[in-house]
Amino acid sequence: METQSSTLKLCRRCEVLKPTTTFAKSKNIKDGFWTYCKPCDYIRNKEYIAANREKHKEKRRIRMKNWQQLPLEKLKARSRGAVARALKKGEILKEPCEVCGETKSYAHHDDYSKPLDIRWVCAPHHKEIHNLLKA
Ligand SMILES: [Zn+2]
Ligand SMILES: [Zn+2]
Ligand SMILES: [Zn+2]
Repeated sequence: METQSSTLKLCRRCEVLKPTTTFAKSKNIKDGFWTYCKPCDYIRNKEYIAANREKHKEKRRIRMKNWQQLPLEKLKARSRGAVARALKKGEILKEPCEVCGETKSYAHHDDYSKPLDIRWVCAPHHKEIHNLLKA
């Protein structure tokens, strides 16, 4: 009985006494064998991988969602592109800051869906407008 118990080990997962040969060897465990029998360990690994795959899927889904929340960024880029093109073609002229007359001015969009509906403002006043918009 003594010798037999030493070759049997209780698997923590299936809770069955199994010969130690069905356990993977592990230096970190006192008796030298892994906590779970090989079939259980196999299932555990599979479950672990499956769970992680779900996690990855979730992460990807969240990333996608963040993308969908960025149409404003896209709109902004598109509007800036339209202004640059219109300036190049001479369709619009760069104007000094509408507030202080500073000639180093930037195109500001009150509404990004109207790419050429712009106001010319210097950097500090542009910042001011955006601060007001946020408030
Ligand atoms: Zn087991
Ligand atoms: Zn200004
Ligand atoms: Zn602006």
